[in-house]
Amino acid sequence: MAFTLEDLPIRDDLRGQSPYGAPQKHVRVQLNVNENTHPVPAEVAEDIVESIRHALATVNRYPDREFTELRRSLTDYLNAGLEGEQLLTPDHLWAANGSNEVLQQLLQAFGGPGRSVLGFPPTYSMHSILASGTGTRWVPAERDAEFGISPETVTAAIAEHQPDIVFLCGPNNPTGTPLPIETIAAAYDATDGIVMVDEAYAEFMPDDAPSALTLLPGRERLVVSRTMSKAFAFAGARVGYLAAHPAVIDAIRLVRLPYHLSALTQAAAVAALRHAPAMLAMVDDIKQQRDRMVTELQAMGYRTYESWSNFVLFGGVADPHAAFEALLEQDVIVRDLGIPNHLRVSAGTAEETTAFLDAMRRVAAVQP
Ligand code: PMP
Repeated sequence: MAFTLEDLPIRDDLRGQSPYGAPQKHVRVQLNVNENTHPVPAEVAEDIVESIRHALATVNRYPDREFTELRRSLTDYLNAGLEGEQLLTPDHLWAANGSNEVLQQLLQAFGGPGRSVLGFPPTYSMHSILASGTGTRWVPAERDAEFGISPETVTAAIAEHQPDIVFLCGPNNPTGTPLPIETIAAAYDATDGIVMVDEAYAEFMPDDAPSALTLLPGRERLVVSRTMSKAFAFAGARVGYLAAHPAVIDAIRLVRLPYHLSALTQAAAVAALRHAPAMLAMVDDIKQQRDRMVTELQAMGYRTYESWSNFVLFGGVADPHAAFEALLEQDVIVRDLGIPNHLRVSAGTAEETTAFLDAMRRVAAVQP
């Protein structure tokens, strides 16, 4: 018998667990992990390279542990999105290698053995995996019909489970469901714990939809996480961040690794943020492709859900695994999340979206 991890003296609570596992396959049309499929514009890429070149001159030294310039850039970016309200200062900002790491640090500081985090599946699969990695008990609660979470639902779940942390995801992955601002406010009022809103897809929301960031003033236990991976087309650079009261940032400083954000990452992110409008230029197009997917999938007879993100969950798929494989044969990869009769697809460029829809029409023909 081959030696496996089960033969190692691994932590009891990790035994039998599965790692995060979206397949990384090289196919022509990759619509499986909600990336921005548009590359970084060439002129922005040049400026990023120039900034990295500059940072390399001092790469023999440890990087700025407080990533001061990046926090200032992220503050300006967020404040600009809040219609210049200047709600945030750099003291409210924290960043790490992807919002996954930001969330892990949050759980290290506020979760851990003997503590629990309440979540509402189906939701971003890393939330429960990060809970398990940090020894925090994951408590799943029910959503309403159509995957929504009303203020009443969140309040009742908090009253029942008394969690130390509440994880909300708005817009929700993998369903795209909007998260009402009233639900966030109600969750905050219902707990003395941390309320974390994962806004990885915030830039894809309708322009007039308020962000959870607008709730931060006066709510010291509210945390809003964001990422440069999606709208910003920066998934490979690994930059995520959060905004919260400066006391929350101080708590995270207790658990972060020193110098966790490399000088090269900091330089690249600051340069990209200097070009925020160019980096975000494709967001409107992506939203259009998403809406096109919804309309055309509906016309094919699939069940779609309202999406405020850059992907679409659709139901009515007789055999998701077979459909996934049939699409793969046509060089299109989507995501089978194990939700019965459902698949999720990320919005691509116009050409990729067309390729997916054409492939789906052929798949539809072979479904029973
Ligand atoms: N939150 C949500 C809801 C996501 O869907 C993702 C990526 N799929 C992340 C966080 C993680 O993003 P990253 O670590 O690339 O910032």
